[in-house]
Amino acid sequence: LEREEPHYFGAGPALLPTAVLQQAAYDLLNYQGSGLGIGEISHRSKPATDVINQSKARLVQLLDIPEDTHEIFFMQGGGTTGFSSIASNLMANFLNRKGKSGKAGYVITGSWSQKSYEEANRLGVDTEIIANAANARGSNSTKFGTIPNVDSWSNNVSKDDTAYIYYCDNETVHGVEFQEFPFEKYEGIPIVADMSSNFLSKQIPISKYGLIMAGAQKNVGIAGLTIYIIRKDLIPQPSDHKLLIENGIPITPIAFHYPSVIKNNSAYNTIPIFTLQVINLVLENLITVKGGLQAQEDLNRKKAEKLYSVLDKYPEIFNLPVEKSVRSKMNVVFTISGGEIKEGIFLKEAEKRYKLTGLKGHRSVGGMRASLYNAVDTTSVDLLCKFIEEFAKEN
Ligand code: PLP
Repeated sequence: LEREEPHYFGAGPALLPTAVLQQAAYDLLNYQGSGLGIGEISHRSKPATDVINQSKARLVQLLDIPEDTHEIFFMQGGGTTGFSSIASNLMANFLNRKGKSGKAGYVITGSWSQKSYEEANRLGVDTEIIANAANARGSNSTKFGTIPNVDSWSNNVSKDDTAYIYYCDNETVHGVEFQEFPFEKYEGIPIVADMSSNFLSKQIPISKYGLIMAGAQKNVGIAGLTIYIIRKDLIPQPSDHKLLIENGIPITPIAFHYPSVIKNNSAYNTIPIFTLQVINLVLENLITVKGGLQAQEDLNRKKAEKLYSVLDKYPEIFNLPVEKSVRSKMNVVFTISGGEIKEGIFLKEAEKRYKLTGLKGHRSVGGMRASLYNAVDTTSVDLLCKFIEEFAKEN
């Protein structure tokens, strides 16, 4: 099975290493010479359990996850099932730990944290906005492009009343990324991160987090699974969920009920084991081919620096709406002077000249977005930079 190396910058589902997909295709047909594909066997069989355990072990190795304090599990779904399930599971845990209901704090820096906040409200969770980047850009603005200074974040957040503080580490649509862990101010409150679009792009100080979740289909694999890393004391007790009902919050459906999933080593119900095998192969590739997480992080930094610096050279043509200090290394967003007509030409020519694809911005914001996930090679970034230079000179 072969393909020409794609120069694909789509935001998700996203590019994966060709070698991983070749192996995955083989595994789908005939897993380890068994005569059956990995997706055809029981999710409780030994080969399936091995895939689950190996993936967990590789995550521990890559991220240096402290296993005495943190638990890893996988659940069907993506980012959205991630933020929905977080709200009810962590609230159930808080109700038990504190014997009273509490609030969930949200830091809003783009459309994904905004959606997570709205979902928690929809589920009847008592929420509070800790910081809002939309407001930081003008009172009626819904545009995002900055992260307000931590000093300006709410000072009225008490650990006795706050179940968790939630934020999105990389806002895929708006191209805003946290450059460091910003929550020292809220010590004692569990910090929850959506890392769906930058998970495994850089090192993470796992021990500082209460919960990290990541939908798989960008840096880590194909759609179908979410990866969770949770601090063990935040796992609800099975009976905590009754407390939700008493407090007007819908009870968590069993397939998203963390204690049931964890107790069954991520196979409470049928885990899409082929999807997990793709993740497992991506993790293996990161360790053995890419040289580990630090090497990948360094490469990602260089790729992003290259692209931003060529865009910055032509401010009269390319407009970068995100404040420099919070620019995402994964999703580079920009617009082109001349609006949609020029942008259309940019997209068409990029594909025609160098087969550069997947550059159209999210439908809600327009413009361009070049996603530089782990699998996007430096060669692709170099070609894109070359094309941008040509486009700038021609325009
Ligand atoms: N969170 C982030 C940061 C995302 O980028 C996305 C999707 O792009 C989601 C959540 C939602 O993911 P899903 O479509 O898998 O529900």
